[in-house]
Amino acid sequence: MNYYLKTFGCQQNHSDSERIEADLKARGMKKTSSYELADYVVINTCMVKESAENRVYGLVNNLSKLKNDPKRKKPMKIVVTGCMVGLAFRDRTGRFLKKIRKAMPSVDEFLPIEEVGFDHAPVRQNRETAWVPISNGCNNYCTFCIVPFTRGREISRPFEDIIGECLQLKKDGFKNITLLGQNVNSYGADIILGEKNVQVMRDLPKKYFEKTKNIKINKDLNSTPKGYRPVFVKHLGRFRIPTLFPQLLEAVAKIGFEKVDMVSSNPWDFSDELIDVIAKYKNITRTIHLPVQSGDDGVLKRMNRWYTAKEYLQLVNKLKNRIPNLKLTTDIIVGFCGETEEEFSNTVNLCKRADFSWAFISQYSTRPMTAATRNLKDNISHSVKEKRWLILDKLINRPHLKSKG
Ligand code: SF4
Repeated sequence: MNYYLKTFGCQQNHSDSERIEADLKARGMKKTSSYELADYVVINTCMVKESAENRVYGLVNNLSKLKNDPKRKKPMKIVVTGCMVGLAFRDRTGRFLKKIRKAMPSVDEFLPIEEVGFDHAPVRQNRETAWVPISNGCNNYCTFCIVPFTRGREISRPFEDIIGECLQLKKDGFKNITLLGQNVNSYGADIILGEKNVQVMRDLPKKYFEKTKNIKINKDLNSTPKGYRPVFVKHLGRFRIPTLFPQLLEAVAKIGFEKVDMVSSNPWDFSDELIDVIAKYKNITRTIHLPVQSGDDGVLKRMNRWYTAKEYLQLVNKLKNRIPNLKLTTDIIVGFCGETEEEFSNTVNLCKRADFSWAFISQYSTRPMTAATRNLKDNISHSVKEKRWLILDKLINRPHLKSKG
């Protein structure tokens, strides 16, 4: 059988596709570069924007014409996986599954990505740089974001599995590594065990940790590295959670790759210990992606992002002071529900002060199931979103155009 694999979306999806491909090859299938020649078509979907979702419907529509073409001599199986399926299986009302089944009747299987495990070495798309997933899912529930619904709660991959994969990659001659997670900084929060093998609870008040100085990591369990003490970070600005990302990053840096990168770090749980590790190892990236989304405290609150513009800039200054030649990139949403001119100008001011090297700027669009869609109004016109997008794009990504208005 010949397979054709189409991937939409972010690096995490592309990394998942490398594992999907390994699974297909292990089943004896051969890759083909065009879907016309394929017996088995897998589509790894993205839902971060409506446009990405619509591209999937368009592709499946084209495939079904081909599949049902009387002149076609061989059968075609269409499998849809990734974010759309994640959302469909997590939507308890069953409405989304019904919707995608109706919209794509020619699909033979909706496959949850969790069913594609880590049993086979991924089929790498690049021979120098490898993606290594360290966690999947997100617990943060930013009000605009669909990821917690498509990928579910955050689950960390066992520490030793990640190190094992990195050691193998080094042996195989890879030069660069990118550690992937929706929020790499909180890596480990779900695998840390306290005394008597009890999982250290998440979201405990700071008081708890002040009183309980001696939290130990259970040494008998595979998922927790011996002798490591967790680093406690703020979670959504209110609570503290134990994490292992500084230790993981250090362990990967020590393997000796030319470059170790990570995506994404969120501003609220960027610990001092993590900054120390980055500063100490020259092979850790000097370009850090630190999504800000907005520079206005009111908008950040409506987005359920628990930091203020001032705290974000303090973190930026701390990073720049500790790490010479640091470059920052970011994500920004313009035209979020109710964003006033004044709120937008606060974002412009923050961007000027943070001096980003690059920004992924999106115009807000509603996504199913999110709190913003349920509770807030998408009341900023398309033309205003466009105008604000252009202002930031010129300011950050195309500064040479600023003088031309
Ligand atoms: S941190 Fe927020 S924006 Fe990022 S994946 Fe989680 S919910 Fe989405």
